[in-house]
Amino acid sequence: MPNMTAKKTPIAEQPGLIRVENFEEVTLGYTKEEAVMEADRCLNCKTAPCVQGCPVQVPIPEFIGAVKEGALEEAYQQILKENSFPAICGRVCPQEKQCESKCVRGIKGESVAIGRLERFVADDYRKNHQESEVRNEVNAVSTGKKVAVVGSGPAGLACASELAGRGYQVTIFEALHKLGGVLVYGIPEFRLPKAIVANEIENMQAMGVTIEKNVIVGKSITVEELIEDGYVAIFIGSGAGLPRFLNIPGENANGVYSSNEFLTRVNLMKAYQYPEVPTPVVIGKKVAVVGAGNVAMDCARTAKRLGAEEVSIIYRRSEDEIPARLEEVHHAQEEGILFKLLSNPTCIIEEEGRVKGIECEKMALGEPDASGRRRPVKIEGANFREDMDTVIIAVGQTPNPLLKETTKQLKVAGWGGIIVDEETMETSIENVYAGGDAVTGVATVILAMGAGKKAALAIDAKLGSVGLSAEIRYV
Ligand code: FAD
Ligand code: SF4
Repeated sequence: MPNMTAKKTPIAEQPGLIRVENFEEVTLGYTKEEAVMEADRCLNCKTAPCVQGCPVQVPIPEFIGAVKEGALEEAYQQILKENSFPAICGRVCPQEKQCESKCVRGIKGESVAIGRLERFVADDYRKNHQESEVRNEVNAVSTGKKVAVVGSGPAGLACASELAGRGYQVTIFEALHKLGGVLVYGIPEFRLPKAIVANEIENMQAMGVTIEKNVIVGKSITVEELIEDGYVAIFIGSGAGLPRFLNIPGENANGVYSSNEFLTRVNLMKAYQYPEVPTPVVIGKKVAVVGAGNVAMDCARTAKRLGAEEVSIIYRRSEDEIPARLEEVHHAQEEGILFKLLSNPTCIIEEEGRVKGIECEKMALGEPDASGRRRPVKIEGANFREDMDTVIIAVGQTPNPLLKETTKQLKVAGWGGIIVDEETMETSIENVYAGGDAVTGVATVILAMGAGKKAALAIDAKLGSVGLSAEIRYV
């Protein structure tokens, strides 16, 4: 008889007022007993709608069934069939909009905590296996064919591991000195510990993937040169790292950061470990974060942990339209982040070149716009000003134009996304594929991974039996 409680088994968390003093992980994960109790809430529905809600179709009933039996190795192997990085997805997937949104238990109560269970299974595996044990041993016969992957974010990593598993010689070219893309330089330590990402990457490297760090494709080497070097296919997973700005007066003042720059300084240059490392970010007492997506929540919660006394999210719509994951918003509220909603910045006030404050207009919600959300409309005469020491702009990112500018014939949409065939992920250049944020704009980790895997399967289907060719053809 399944456990019929309407609510998910709670997960242990660091209390809000304690965790703002540190960068350690906020949620602590299930114990084995809790995981089995939660797995027991699964009704094992015949139609398994949850699987359809997962972008990579993890065999959810099978892995949860194995957890119920305490067969955790079996559960892990079930997840691995479709998802190479479960410890990451279990932590950061927006499950409430994906697998868990389709769970039948969600109709009359709370859905099964699929993400928490996925995380538990992956963490349990990591705890019980020595680093020297290679999980992803490659048994495939070598194809003798070289594939280049541009970028080491989730799209590139998923593509690389899938192809390595199929016997390709894969080289990842990464612009930075660290692998993982947004997983390491964007998402903060307290949501996704770097050690978890490093572990997943080590597993992938154990499959024989070659890594070339500090190589900017389009600058250090071009796509055409890679093809001439004998790479039979190229996958572009270069992400969307170009920040959008508000284009209001004062945005060039000292103390104004893009979300990208701020999070990269904290994560990659380890400002969160100051004074042990000599690279602090000066944050001041009052911080405004403009925007209300996951990125904005990460910036606000990071600023609080760096010592800011008052951190405000400034967002031009209302609470109902906040695009960030519900869990992130709750966590931010528990940590004392203020939400200044229906407020639209018009000017950053500066004094001697430094941020002094922010001016906003008050908004009301009007008729729905093209996105279906009610359009914010300015309320005349209701502007307000507030003193600020730092302003962080987190209103979105687009793909970097470098690859387009340096790759002849690579077709790109007006807003910057690389155009691909949706079935195969092939671009306008034959045997050059793309996926992840470089194609969709900022989306999710699991969608990027799904795109990388889809491209890998298409590459294998097309090139698995074809000989080497350095010829460039356009489609
Ligand atoms: P990226 O992760 O951006 O990786 C691209 C990689 O390519 C980078 O390492 C970059 O250095 C490299 N690169 C770029 N250009 C070149 C070049 N010319 N040559 C060589 N290398 C290059 N998604 C979720 O699902 N859940 C979340 O909670 C979540 N939180 C987020 C928080 C933040 C702060 C941000 C910024 C994003 C968040 N996302 C979240 C979105 C998610 O991280 C992205 O959708 C995902 O990382 C996209 O993967 P990608 O591989 O396409 O690109
Ligand atoms: Fe859910 Fe993400 Fe796991 Fe799919 S990969 S089952 S969406 S947590």
